[in-house]
Amino acid sequence: MAKSDGKDLKTGTKVVTVGRRPEWTGIPGQPGAVVNPAVWRASTHLYEDSAALAEGLRTNEDGRFFYGRRGSPTQWALCEALTQLEPGAHGTVLYPSGVAAIAGALLSVVKPGDTLLVTDNAYDPTRNMGMGLLKTFGVETKFFDPLDLNAFRALVAEGAQAVFLEAPGSLSFEVCDIPALVALAREAGAWVLIDNTWPGPTGLRAIELGCDGTVNALTKHVGGHSDLMMGAATGTERLYRRLRRTAQQLGQVVSPDDAALALRGLRTLEVRLQRESESALAIAQWLSERPEVEAVLCPMLDGAPGHDLWKRDFVGGCGLFGFVLKTDDPDARARFIDALELFGIGYSWGGFESLALPTNPAKDRSVASWPPVGVDPTCTLGVRLSIGLEDPADLIADLKQAFEKMERA
Ligand SMILES: *Cc1c(COP(=O)(O)O)cnc(C)c1O
Repeated sequence: MAKSDGKDLKTGTKVVTVGRRPEWTGIPGQPGAVVNPAVWRASTHLYEDSAALAEGLRTNEDGRFFYGRRGSPTQWALCEALTQLEPGAHGTVLYPSGVAAIAGALLSVVKPGDTLLVTDNAYDPTRNMGMGLLKTFGVETKFFDPLDLNAFRALVAEGAQAVFLEAPGSLSFEVCDIPALVALAREAGAWVLIDNTWPGPTGLRAIELGCDGTVNALTKHVGGHSDLMMGAATGTERLYRRLRRTAQQLGQVVSPDDAALALRGLRTLEVRLQRESESALAIAQWLSERPEVEAVLCPMLDGAPGHDLWKRDFVGGCGLFGFVLKTDDPDARARFIDALELFGIGYSWGGFESLALPTNPAKDRSVASWPPVGVDPTCTLGVRLSIGLEDPADLIADLKQAFEKMERA
């Protein structure tokens, strides 16, 4: 739905105003409007007469009633909001999860016989899609080290139709040189997609940096309250046409209730991300001075891996980062995580509540090194934190007592 408007408003203002068209928040012919679009629960859309029914078949346009699968104002408002947040975007397609968005985007750009290049730090289900579903459809997936431009150049020279990036990696947090990778991919005429879930729809201007489109797990930052599964792909006009066609053929649709929840989350995205980022930075700084910690993997932290590229290319951060323990004893790591009182143990992230997760990035990569260059290679035990909206002083005190319990055993 609807091109990004290019208006030069600040992000905090944009997330409040985007997608609130009067025709979606009011009743035609009546003055006034409500703030949020109604939840339009609908399968059947009714036509005035047979001629209107026939006319409806002739067009396949955004923002027109047709049938429930093409959405209603609630979903259109969310699509338009996400499109307007991404400079250079033409439209957005919604999916029932982030993984469905990755699948929808990849299936829009590759066909049998094609080669797909996927960053080695990609989200695990993205890897599996390359090695599983796409392989059975005759697409060859090759993985590349996101930090090795020369190796990528050589791989692209062998031919590729699509490239899939993720920055920072959501377990290992390395930051690739997006414009440099895009430039090499362009020479080969490949599509470039990026999993934008870490920065979210406001933290990286991926299309301006040369990508054709971005994939977002709205489950994370946009939902923001750990009660919603949804994904989105946002693209240039050329990509958007393909995204939409593929999604329609796959029958992808999200419920209006979920779209309304995502819109509600979106309105507070900027304040939540600011708070999370500030807290995460303070906690990352504190961790970097702890004797139990070998390395902190937080691109927002001065001196941490990827900080320079993050500072150059990103416009925002978030509460998700990792660190590597000095100990190589998995039981010690389990003691540490189990002793945490304010951090839940679980997958996903981006909610208002903090989470901790033991990580083993080595098992989800095949070419890039783990632990990262510069980190003692015997230290392989990772911990990932998703910092929520709690007071960071309380979170630090909790981490401190958990380190003490880890050491005491
Ligand atoms: C969680 C996640 C996804 C998938 O989102 P779901 O809504 O859980 O399917 C995709 N990419 C990244 C980086 C993620 O963290």
